[in-house]
Amino acid sequence: MADTTITHDVIILGAGAAGMMAAISCGEEALARGQAIPRIAILEKNPQPGIKVLVCGGGRCNLTNAGDIDFLIAQFGRNGRFLTPALRTLDNTGLRNWFAQRGVPTHEEHDGKIYPDSNKASSVVNAMVQRMRELPVHISAQCAAQSVTWNPSTNMFHVTTATGQIFHSRFLLIAVGGQSYTRMGTTGDGYTFAQALGHAIITPRPAIVPLLCKQAWISELKGLAVEDVTIRIEAPGPLPRLATGKPQPSTNDMMFTHFGLSGPAVLNISEIVAELLEKFPEITLRADFVRRINHEELGRLFRQWHTAEGRKLVRSKLAELIPHRLADMFCRLSDIDSQQVCANLTGRQMQELAEHLKATAFTIYATRGFKEAMVTAGGVRLDEINPNTMQSRINPRLFLAGEVLDLTGPSGGYNLQLAFSTGYLAGVSIAHQLHENA
Ligand SMILES: Cc1cc2nc3c(=O)[nH]c(=O)nc-3n(C[C@H](O)[C@H](O)[C@H](O)COP(=O)(O)OP(=O)(O)OC[C@H]3O[C@@H](n4cnc5c(N)ncnc54)[C@H](O)[C@@H]3O)c2cc1C
Repeated sequence: MADTTITHDVIILGAGAAGMMAAISCGEEALARGQAIPRIAILEKNPQPGIKVLVCGGGRCNLTNAGDIDFLIAQFGRNGRFLTPALRTLDNTGLRNWFAQRGVPTHEEHDGKIYPDSNKASSVVNAMVQRMRELPVHISAQCAAQSVTWNPSTNMFHVTTATGQIFHSRFLLIAVGGQSYTRMGTTGDGYTFAQALGHAIITPRPAIVPLLCKQAWISELKGLAVEDVTIRIEAPGPLPRLATGKPQPSTNDMMFTHFGLSGPAVLNISEIVAELLEKFPEITLRADFVRRINHEELGRLFRQWHTAEGRKLVRSKLAELIPHRLADMFCRLSDIDSQQVCANLTGRQMQELAEHLKATAFTIYATRGFKEAMVTAGGVRLDEINPNTMQSRINPRLFLAGEVLDLTGPSGGYNLQLAFSTGYLAGVSIAHQLHENA
């Protein structure tokens, strides 16, 4: 428990991926430079540090991605370049080495996703907590910061907690994450703190979030996962310039749910959909379930079924291309009964099947919101932060790192790498500042 009566060199708000990494890198950098270990207190709302990291990757923690720096940067769209110095300071190889040296070796899986060999997020969190204890960092759990003020005459920050404690520090790092998955403690407090200290906020919106869909038949397919689907957004008019600058279409696996659509292909464009839904009441998504077969090839295939495989059931032939349940649904939507054979396929039915396979339309009217979003898009404006240090350009004693920033990647380990890299850079920069202001 940190002593509130002493003045800390550094207070870190939030013991998530970014906050814990910052506490560690600040202590390690000071040690490496022969400085005294700074008095660091990390204040965490939850009963223990790293609770959100524990749920990452279904409890296995997809802690980074194997792509090179340019690839990682590209995942963050228009704002990605901001991350260059942070990634140069701690890239995915550096991160993996850091964990390996602390007994947490990692391995690569499909799509370049990196997991601990233990397949347990707890090994990632335990290694970080252990290192914080060694340094030592004072960890105050169940200690939610409620307000933050800066006193320019004393050059001190004052943090008041929900229980009325007041912490004082020379440097402050805001690393309280975004406002998604609110049950994990991330309720957007960082935006209020940053605003109170003079920063502007880009309106937060849910990202990596399932989408609600109007087509009633979708609920009949709930639980069905379809591999390798390309999803394209169709706005009702020319696509406006998007704040995110994220690419589309998105190709990956998708999933039907009782309310609509989920799975990586959908989740990864949900940020753009959320932005468009602020401008339009509905957005159409077009799904290509057979992206490796073009329209001409599909036409030839249907004609071949019709002539050479006429006695076979249409639904059985279709199920060679897509999952059974989806094949049956597409037959139903194209007025093809379960016993119809390929010889009886009409031109209109072939056309409708082709439309369903290559461009099924899903009408999206909402997202599942912050409660179910894995990350928050938007956040503290990047042009008010120095990317080389993570230092505020408004108050040089203030630092910000992690999801609280206006940076969002798709699923695949990018968001944790963002948190680790920016947290690490912030910690190192604070150690330098402490030295210069000793
Ligand atoms: C279900 C789920 C699965 C995910 N899986 C992955 C994955 O596998 N790979 C990946 O890269 N990303 C994943 N993410 C995203 C990833 O968890 C976040 O991007 C990342 O944790 C952000 O790190 P952070 O340190 O900025 O914030 P967080 O890790 O969210 O940490 C912020 C901390 O601040 C605390 N806090 C909040 N307000 C206060 C306050 N007022 N006072 C004190 N403390 C406060 C919170 O309790 C929290 O512990 C997943 C997210 C979810 C919800």
